[in-house]
Amino acid sequence: MTEESVFDRYRADVRRPMRRLFGAYGRPRYGWFALGVLANLLAQFASLVPPVVLGAAVNTLDGGRFSLPLVPNAWLPTGTTGAFELSVVLIGGSFLTTAAFTYLYGVAANEFAHGVMHAVRVDCFEKMGRLDMSFFDDKQTGEVMAILSSDTENLESFLDNALTNSVRLGTLLVGIGVVLVLENAYLAAVTLLVAPVMVGFTYWFMKRAEPLYAARRSSVGKLNTRLENAISGIELTKTTASEAHETERVRRSSKRLFEDTMAMLRLSYFYRPGMELLAGVSFTLTFLVGGYWLFVGPPPGASGTLGAGTLVTFLFLSQRFATPLAEVSNIIDQYENALASSERVFGLMDIPVGVTDRPDAVALTDVDGHVEYDEVSFAYDGEPGDDATGETVIDDVSFSAEPGETVALVGPTGAGKSTLLKLLLRMYDVTAGEIRIDGHDIRDVQMASLRSQIGYVGQETFLFDGTIADNIRYGDFDADHEAVVEAARAAEAHEFITNLPDGYETRVGERGVKLSGGQRQRIAIARVVLQDPQILVLDEATSAVDTETEYLIQRSLDALAADRTTFAIAHRLSTVKGADEILVLEDGQITERGSHADLLERDGLYAQLWSVQAGDLDSLPDEFRERVALSDD
Ligand code: ADP
Repeated sequence: MTEESVFDRYRADVRRPMRRLFGAYGRPRYGWFALGVLANLLAQFASLVPPVVLGAAVNTLDGGRFSLPLVPNAWLPTGTTGAFELSVVLIGGSFLTTAAFTYLYGVAANEFAHGVMHAVRVDCFEKMGRLDMSFFDDKQTGEVMAILSSDTENLESFLDNALTNSVRLGTLLVGIGVVLVLENAYLAAVTLLVAPVMVGFTYWFMKRAEPLYAARRSSVGKLNTRLENAISGIELTKTTASEAHETERVRRSSKRLFEDTMAMLRLSYFYRPGMELLAGVSFTLTFLVGGYWLFVGPPPGASGTLGAGTLVTFLFLSQRFATPLAEVSNIIDQYENALASSERVFGLMDIPVGVTDRPDAVALTDVDGHVEYDEVSFAYDGEPGDDATGETVIDDVSFSAEPGETVALVGPTGAGKSTLLKLLLRMYDVTAGEIRIDGHDIRDVQMASLRSQIGYVGQETFLFDGTIADNIRYGDFDADHEAVVEAARAAEAHEFITNLPDGYETRVGERGVKLSGGQRQRIAIARVVLQDPQILVLDEATSAVDTETEYLIQRSLDALAADRTTFAIAHRLSTVKGADEILVLEDGQITERGSHADLLERDGLYAQLWSVQAGDLDSLPDEFRERVALSDD
């Protein structure tokens, strides 16, 4: 688990992920972003109006003038009644304005945040689909799932909450500061005296909190990995009766997360009341100095009078520092989360794709089905053109098939039969040599056109969530119902399908009926019939089906293969007897080739396998025993 994954490698190389996020995904939505920030600014400023107006109104009680900061006195009424009326309008209006802009800000900020997330999600998925098969061999699907779900969520909560909270924080701090200074610079100095302490305290907190947040994030990751592992391994857990062992491992990871969370919370619960206490100190100091001024006279260094209303404004506003400042810790946490998540997102985006269309790739059309393997070698972890890397799985293999011919591959498990045929579909690219279809190197043609010319029936048949008809249509999404039924008939599947509760409209997959292996395979064959490719790749299923089903499947495959170039991996040699050429593969090399009759004559491995499958085990010489022992898959 500590082994470095491809992911980690590219993740570590991601530079300035947040800037990339804003650049690549934010740009088309900058309008929403700007609107959100602006609306937030206006909402925050409007929310400062009531305490200021209230103070101004109170100031008129002892005969003072109604005056507001930043507003020329000439615009304001002089009488108390007029002042009162204006105050009511302003206070009511500011609440309305705050509400309206808060709404606008919410809509705009979410359009931005969720719009970005939607685009990131779709792009990640699209990229995931293009990744090389070898990426999935490393079983990193859990990580991809995490990116598509929790990482996009992290980004979203940052873009939505943290970003707008910091706008709010800035606006409030600046707004309150400006208003106070304009109202009464002396008293503002008193009220703001604790501000540097608050900032210092916040800085101290951030320094302490950061490693705790980081530790917690890492514990969350570890616990998730552990859970994922435990769930996918549930069968092993049950068969080895190791539930207690697994629970203990999860308990340890969970305990770790609990401890890290508590360490973080202890600090943040210290911080929040601390901030509130500091705001209280500011309030008390303001009340002390302002009250003294009001009741006794100007404090040392001050002159003139202080209106009671001004003190009211100060007391109201001094209380509004603490809450947004206390948000700072959340903002930082969300930022750090988002940073880690965007690194993962761009780590995924940056994984290079090896098997892809060349810029000048042409479409493969009107295929005759002439297939050539020319000195093909392959290693799963090898680099193209570099023979030195990886363990060779296919070693210098050459053969060819004329249009319409059938080539069968036999040999022990692990010899490389499946691998050899996956190369034809470009699930992987050859490490050396060339595969040609009708003379085109398959790396020079468009992948989609290549794959549409090759029908593949594998050992495992995956059915997507959807109806039977939907699943058959993976062969041709434009096919009409008649074509689907015809394909099913050719695949010997029509009968069992019509016996299902909703016929072709029966749902299969996660929430639908479960089909047997033989039924699934016939649906896969129907898919290929509908696809009508010129080349077939058949990886014979080893799952046990009853004799009649096997006969049906074989009959439909034979019909399908009749006039197409066909490559078949066979475990039951009876099915390949009629092949034009049989290749015996051992350790990635072709050791025997020829027709059934040729190979029997040769009296090599094939002839031995044949006699074993015919039931004549005892006649097997020791030399072959070892070789066939591998082949009972
Ligand atoms: P066969 O189809 O003849 O049983 P395969 O082509 O499945 O053989 O496997 C050939 C060799 O390649 C085996 O040694 C197997 O372990 C290895 N192999 C198969 N698939 C992968 C993979 N995805 N990644 C790495 N090695 C693989």
